[in-house]
Amino acid sequence: TWGQVCNQLQKAVGQNNYTTWIAPLEPVGLSDGIASFHAPTKFMRDWVSRNFAEPILRELRHAGVIVERIEILVLKHRPANAAPAPTHASAPPARKIVSNLDAPLPSAPLDGRFTFDSFVVGKPNELAHAAAKRVAEGGPVSFNPLFLYGGVGLGKTHLMHAIAHDLRQQRPDLRVLYLSAEQFMYRFVQALRDKQIMDFKEMFRSIDVLMVDDVQFIAGKESTQEEFFHTFNALVDQGKQIVISADRAPGEIKDLEERIKSRLSCGLVVDLHPTDYELRLGILQTKTENYRTEYPGLQIAPGVLEFLAHRITSNVRILEGALTRLFAYASLIGREITLDLAQECLKDQLRQSERKVTVEEILRKVAEHYNVRLSDLVGPKRMRAIARPRQVAMFLSKSLTTRSLPDIGRRFGGRDHTTIMHGIRKIEELRASDSQLAEDIDMLRRLLES
Ligand code: ADP
Ligand code: MG
Repeated sequence: TWGQVCNQLQKAVGQNNYTTWIAPLEPVGLSDGIASFHAPTKFMRDWVSRNFAEPILRELRHAGVIVERIEILVLKHRPANAAPAPTHASAPPARKIVSNLDAPLPSAPLDGRFTFDSFVVGKPNELAHAAAKRVAEGGPVSFNPLFLYGGVGLGKTHLMHAIAHDLRQQRPDLRVLYLSAEQFMYRFVQALRDKQIMDFKEMFRSIDVLMVDDVQFIAGKESTQEEFFHTFNALVDQGKQIVISADRAPGEIKDLEERIKSRLSCGLVVDLHPTDYELRLGILQTKTENYRTEYPGLQIAPGVLEFLAHRITSNVRILEGALTRLFAYASLIGREITLDLAQECLKDQLRQSERKVTVEEILRKVAEHYNVRLSDLVGPKRMRAIARPRQVAMFLSKSLTTRSLPDIGRRFGGRDHTTIMHGIRKIEELRASDSQLAEDIDMLRRLLES
């Protein structure tokens, strides 16, 4: 019956979540109302316990199992191709050519500011951060590759540099190479030209941790893809860790060979979601703290950071740029940073985000997306196929417009503000475990904000 429960779970949490988190669980017993499972790693155990215990319990009960709670144990044995234990890491299997090994790796320079300490964690990047931290420990590989993807300026490069910084400090015995896919191609082409392709191959196969940023760059570049594929496979076969980033999911990168897409998807694929208000505010607060040493005595009025977090939603890079500009401007003219000053100094940045999304637009797009009638969205029908899209529209109305709950209620056919609140809560709750829903919302948000 675990098989049947799995079928239900697949529907409940979405295919991606299911494959990544539930499928690897192995049911091992049921006694005293405790259902026990084996998980391959601690990381997995923690994540599943935090995020999927409830749906698992629910579906078990649905299937008639009497169960109080679940318990996840970590299997001790390691997968066949896992990295050797740390003590062996500095004594890799004999290689034919060792001349390259002492040479410094041609890593791209790392930005000293991109550390884990300076990375602000919020819901949208929580999983990416946790996975990156895990890789940064330099222990045995538990997912390979780690594939990070997300829009511009959401912190992919920051996380990769942070991994590299930590590894260099804590595991100087490991050969860590970070570079962009563009640099990979450049080195490859150069090696071909200089007839040093064997050296190139040897060097890339001697790495313990390979990080390739913006891999979408090699799309459409056949020979580079080919070489990348071989490098990738050679390293994975040796149990070496690989971290890849891209601007979209592996399956969505155009002009990338199928076999590469599938190799890229076979580890842990994590997306960095667009920032939410809390994360933006957190980032602004952290940066402001850092600026205090640079601009001592500069005053910032209450509400300014909140205003920026509300208004500059595109990406973290632009948000940071705005804050930098604001501090520089205020210190130049020697004034306190007030809302007025912010509006004056950031006219251009704010104008871009001025395109106001309306509740009506949201209703229209949501109706279109879920293929339901607009009149039903604001009407009284209660069946799930309509109620859920309606709740999504409520959620989006609250997060994308400045309307109050009663105001939103009026636009949803005169509903009470508590109904709107309930709908928003429901979506917030579901979004954490239902990746399909989370994706729908991201997509709608992008549609509406562009
Ligand atoms: P990407 O590679 O995804 O395009 P970056 O890693 O280059 O994005 O991030 C863009 C800028 O935003 C960098 O300056 C980075 O430090 C900052 N940044 C992004 N996310 C965060 C975060 N969660 N906390 C702190 N800074 C962040
Ligand atoms: Mg980047």
